[in-house]
Amino acid sequence: MASSVHQSVREKARASYLGLAIGDALGATVEFMTANEIQVEYKVHKDIIGGGWLKLKPGRVTDDTEMSLALGAALLKTQSVDVVAIAESFSDWMRSKPVDIGNTVRRGIVYYRNHGETSVPKSTFNSGNGACMRTLPVALATLGCDDETITTASRLQVHITHYSDLSDAGTEHVINLIQLALNGYDINQLKISTQAFVAEYPEFNYDKRRVTNPGAYIVETLQAVFQSLYTTDSFESCLIDVVNRGGDADTTGAIAGMIAGACYGFGDIPERWLKQLDYTTLCLCSAQADDLLSLAPVKIATGIADEEQASDKRFQG
Ligand SMILES: [Mg+2]
Repeated sequence: MASSVHQSVREKARASYLGLAIGDALGATVEFMTANEIQVEYKVHKDIIGGGWLKLKPGRVTDDTEMSLALGAALLKTQSVDVVAIAESFSDWMRSKPVDIGNTVRRGIVYYRNHGETSVPKSTFNSGNGACMRTLPVALATLGCDDETITTASRLQVHITHYSDLSDAGTEHVINLIQLALNGYDINQLKISTQAFVAEYPEFNYDKRRVTNPGAYIVETLQAVFQSLYTTDSFESCLIDVVNRGGDADTTGAIAGMIAGACYGFGDIPERWLKQLDYTTLCLCSAQADDLLSLAPVKIATGIADEEQASDKRFQG
């Protein structure tokens, strides 16, 4: 199966995974700062220098990349989208005392541990960006799957910690953008897809004033990402634009990075960022990108939740 994936798709998948990690590492320095504070301190923040409220070493990534790697490891271990394996992998990751973890993510993992349930109850309070930020492994492993399979796979991983219509919709659109880019569509074609998405979900309309200091709300996060993606023309300019907005900058950086990486390819990633990224992370991301593409089109294995999901309308469209 591996040989059936075209070389350019492999290269873009790797760029997407490295883009996620680079956006995370770059943005973490200025997470929770306002755009004005960033300007005063850095003029323009454009190098991976660590620091920030988490006092990171330069090149160190945070939960966005780590949860993606945990999700990817579960898909590779079971060679399928197995929701129990994914929940276990998230739980193991939380046990490893990560440098950062979001409240909704923590609550979801504790809910799984206490109840054995792989979906939190549906709630608009679950509309944070914490499930979207780790979606890349699903985008890679479901490349070439039909739409229904992609939606099912996405919601299985998303609902472990976040279950809301906006989180579902935003995450599925990010998968769509990554897959369009992997299939060779350019930034203008991605923009057309986002316009159709916004027509269906007007909450995500991003054409108004510039979003600064975006919070963890999926709508604000993706508005900032769309504005940066569709007003720049390279991987570097997109990431610099998005992280300098401040707020949840590691996550806007991570999501913009995975889309821009897939769109512009490996050759467009600045060498200084590749060199500054933690080397172990760089190797893990590159290897997973390759291995996850080799899984595509992945199978779904819902495990103990099979019966429940078969009768559950929310997985049917
Ligand atoms: Mg983070």
